[in-house]
Amino acid sequence: MGGLRAEQAAVVSVQVRTDEIYETTVGLEIHVELSTQSKMFCSCAVAFAGEPNTRTCPVCLGLPGSLPVVNEKAVDSTIKIGLALGCDVAPRSIFHRKNYFYPDMPKNYQISQYDLPLCTSGHLDIVGDFGRSAVGITRVHLEEDTGKSQHMGGTGRIADSSYSLEDFNRAGTPLVEIVTEPDLHSVEEARVFVTELRGLLESLRVSDVRMEEGSLRVDANVSVRRVGETEYGVKVEVKNMNSIRSVARALAYEEQRQRAALDAGQTLVQETRHFNEKTGETSTLRSKEYAFDYRYFPEPDLVPLEPSKEWIAGIRALLPELPVEKRARFSQQYGLTEADVSLLTSSTATAEWFEAAARAYKGDAKKVVNWIIADLYGLLNEAGIELARSQIAPAQLAALVEMVDAGAISGRQAKLVLGEMFKSGDDPREIASARGLEQMSDTGAIEAAVDEVISEQTEAADKVRAGNLGTIGFLVGQVMKRTRGQANPKLVNEILRDRLVQ
Ligand code: ZN
Ligand code: MN
Repeated sequence: MGGLRAEQAAVVSVQVRTDEIYETTVGLEIHVELSTQSKMFCSCAVAFAGEPNTRTCPVCLGLPGSLPVVNEKAVDSTIKIGLALGCDVAPRSIFHRKNYFYPDMPKNYQISQYDLPLCTSGHLDIVGDFGRSAVGITRVHLEEDTGKSQHMGGTGRIADSSYSLEDFNRAGTPLVEIVTEPDLHSVEEARVFVTELRGLLESLRVSDVRMEEGSLRVDANVSVRRVGETEYGVKVEVKNMNSIRSVARALAYEEQRQRAALDAGQTLVQETRHFNEKTGETSTLRSKEYAFDYRYFPEPDLVPLEPSKEWIAGIRALLPELPVEKRARFSQQYGLTEADVSLLTSSTATAEWFEAAARAYKGDAKKVVNWIIADLYGLLNEAGIELARSQIAPAQLAALVEMVDAGAISGRQAKLVLGEMFKSGDDPREIASARGLEQMSDTGAIEAAVDEVISEQTEAADKVRAGNLGTIGFLVGQVMKRTRGQANPKLVNEILRDRLVQ
């Protein structure tokens, strides 16, 4: 054992040495679509998909003479995000016009924030194999989303399409941009950060944070430098990752690509690269030569944002329990392991489902946790659905575990019942009685069967009486046989001991 451990240590240290030639630096820019009822500067509805160009008006189409009006709820949500990230909320911030041309942007400028953002200087703490890390949040600002281009007659990318269509339903949706400091040093750190941030935003109920629908979009700035160098390496921006897994894949690819280029003595170029889901590779989207001059200038049609101290204090007072607080409470209140806690707090809905089951259950909540993790998650993963979306009501799982506790059904039978509950959403008591699964817990009937067995199996009974407790299992088996497996074996065992052991 000792020898094996030494060998493993040697392998690990070799890997670390290779790794230490380069150091990876990652900073993230995350765009979050707020789930407000109406758009950022007009009263058009905010919704996903739908018939193209049905949720537009002169303001979000940028028609001449139209004037924007700030959505107060969006400012409220942005301050909420800023406070949850430990940011300072600026007593005065302003909107700027970010000028560039692209067909999905009807005004040819995006109303955004520039040098006076709404929130600054926060942090989000993450924990993982890499240890603990406080990732700096540079800024949290408010802007508007663009429309959506649909490239027709090819693979869906502009390069091989014959024409493009524009849908402005999304144009003007409130968008929060969160920018981190370049504080992330590995793919894993970046993955954990995005997971933690998504959980935080979800708990605040400001966005539906669906990466696959684009309501949470992550762009990553990645650079690699040799250990000991003081300047950062050449920064490459990677776009188009639409799941947390894609973020990790894209960063891992990019890290390797940059290291290989440096190994080969090549010079990296500062550029924006596109991540391809299918190949797992990144490719050049645009290089620095085409970098835009956004010609930022203050938006003349909007007044500055000056949230009062009372407004900010009111938002702070109504902040919900944040994931980090929930995790601490779960581990304390229910005595759960770190792994169980992280699974059960993976989303607000999951945590609420578990707590409802724990409240409904009369015993130690850890038993409910075991059923969720050891059995229910198997079914959920197979079906690819989340805990809170299963057909099983929290109180029904509690009832099932209580049936096992009371000896009404065995653990094995309970697994069958759980499978049925998962398919039908039916009550465990109904399922058990419909399938005749209920154990015989009627002490009188079991006692009668025990007495019959004792009088028939005199040799075995005498052995037990003489102190040979190993033989008791044989007698339990005989009683189970006689009751066609319906007796509760625990009860049978107890009654046999009562009768034979003094
Ligand atoms: Zn509109
Ligand atoms: Mn932006």
